[in-house]
Amino acid sequence: MTSVRERIGSRLLVATHNQGKLEEIAALLEPYGVEVVGGKEMGLPEPEETGTTFVENARIKAHAAAKATGLPALSDDSGIEVDALDKAPGVYTADWSETPNGRDFVMAMTKTHDLLVERDAPEPWSARFCCTLVLAFPDGEDMVFPGVMEGRVVWPMRGDQGHGYDPIFVPEGFDVTFGEMDRWKKNEISHRADAFKKFVDGCFG
Ligand code: IMP
Repeated sequence: MTSVRERIGSRLLVATHNQGKLEEIAALLEPYGVEVVGGKEMGLPEPEETGTTFVENARIKAHAAAKATGLPALSDDSGIEVDALDKAPGVYTADWSETPNGRDFVMAMTKTHDLLVERDAPEPWSARFCCTLVLAFPDGEDMVFPGVMEGRVVWPMRGDQGHGYDPIFVPEGFDVTFGEMDRWKKNEISHRADAFKKFVDGCFG
């Protein structure tokens, strides 16, 4: 039977147009002799993310890329779920920050906090960052690797180290927000690190 490692071969398409994500994944896979190619390089369009879960959206992106190129393709979808907001913003995490002039995360974090206050939600405001990776093969099969970091939402915003919703998220076992945490430390414990560890163990372990 062909192993996952053999099915991946020496070239993996990463279905993202984000250069930062691409470089991070290329560095991670270099020790395994896998060359990483980006969606932009291959001229792939970014499909519409019409799913209602992280896995659905990651599947849409990975399968579209694998089908278009004939290569195995990896994609991710991520966001934050706040329990007292019925797990919103969830797959709409990036959407909450959209403005006609680009993304505004201060606005998105303020909206999150305002809704919690509006609902009179008791603290701690439990929440989690999720990152789901999907590896899709050109024959239509796929593998799913879900990553999670549990924690809570705090207010006011603290720290300027990270991106997105980092300044209002305190990971479990810590007192600092992701925005106050050293970048290397965050990258070691994050939802993305969890998903990537499962991916590497599942494919190259
Ligand atoms: P995606 O590119 O569709 O996966 O968008 C996910 C959104 O979730 C991003 O725009 C960020 O706002 C948010 N997000 C995901 N991971 C993190 C994180 O580690 N810190 C802060 N925000 C994050």
